[in-house]
Amino acid sequence: MVIIGLFQSGLESREACRYDRSMLAPWQQSLANTVTDFQQLCALLALNPVELFPADQAIDFPLRVPRELIARMKKGDASDPLLLQVLPQAQELNVVPGYSTNPLNEKVFNPVPGLLHKYHGRVLLTLAASCAVNCRYCFRRHFPYEDNVPGMQGWEKALDYIRADNTISEVIFSGGEPLVVKDTQLKQLVDKLDAIPHVKRLRIHTRLPVMIPSRVTESLLTLLRESRLSVAIVLHANHANEIDDAVKAALEKMHANHLSLLNQSVLLKNVNNNVEALSALSEVLFTSHVVPYYLHVLDPVQGAAHFNVPREQALLLMDEMRNRLPGYLVPRLVCETPGARSKTLID
Ligand SMILES: *Cc1c(COP(=O)(O)O)cnc(C)c1O
Ligand code: SF4
Repeated sequence: MVIIGLFQSGLESREACRYDRSMLAPWQQSLANTVTDFQQLCALLALNPVELFPADQAIDFPLRVPRELIARMKKGDASDPLLLQVLPQAQELNVVPGYSTNPLNEKVFNPVPGLLHKYHGRVLLTLAASCAVNCRYCFRRHFPYEDNVPGMQGWEKALDYIRADNTISEVIFSGGEPLVVKDTQLKQLVDKLDAIPHVKRLRIHTRLPVMIPSRVTESLLTLLRESRLSVAIVLHANHANEIDDAVKAALEKMHANHLSLLNQSVLLKNVNNNVEALSALSEVLFTSHVVPYYLHVLDPVQGAAHFNVPREQALLLMDEMRNRLPGYLVPRLVCETPGARSKTLID
């Protein structure tokens, strides 16, 4: 297990479980209990592993899926839209021209380890290397986190970088998955950011409240509420079926604590590339106070080409959504252009 970083992640607690599992918070137990075995996933979903591709040995990006997400999948359905997001497939091994291992060339914007400064006024900190879930389309699936989640001194360097540049008004916790970091350690970092006068906003890019809703603990809510910074949580859900009652309850708590809630999705073939799926997602999110923010077109990362939706179809879907939904429920269709000063709007 390769987990590096200043912060003890929930995953590291996997070691601790051997001694006293009851010491772990429920979300940490869930992280320690994610399914990483293909046969086990098939058994839980009543799927025939022989008909699927047992790719875990052949593909360098392992299977990883929380049991909470598996519980929302339809048994016996190999084309379930939640399953397809996490299921290793033979197509991942195809080498497709134009798809690379580092599609965004982010190293260029990486002045100190763990910090990306790409856009004006905002820096992104890669707080943790791991995720609760391995999304097959992830553009960071080949990202060298090992070199980019620094130790204690490294974070001081990132903080010094932020302190020294008073154009930085927003700090984004990202990853990997920033919320695998424990609350006590998040609090230490937030306290340090609170003390930098030009930082006004904290943003957290996280998929964990959707994957493992028990992550929304009282201590997390308290530390965010007590911060001087305005806090936005940018969630990541791609399909309405991801939002079950437990997720709704977690979102309700965040809303009650005055956190601004946004969502970003990725447009994925066979998962959400139809107007019904996209509209249902926007609508269910809004009932939980979440506003759709971005709909990303797939980054051309090697191993994910089978998720690609042609540009013309994406534009058509946006038109259909605009015809059906209030403007505030239509996310912005964007892509990342290496070298651009913002996300690129596609219209
Ligand atoms: C997407 C992104 C941001 C945030 O961009 P917004 O358009 O403000 O959501 C910031 N930094 C990096 C490196 C990003 O990739
Ligand atoms: S949660 Fe985000 S960073 Fe983690 S694997 Fe999924 S898309 Fe990638």
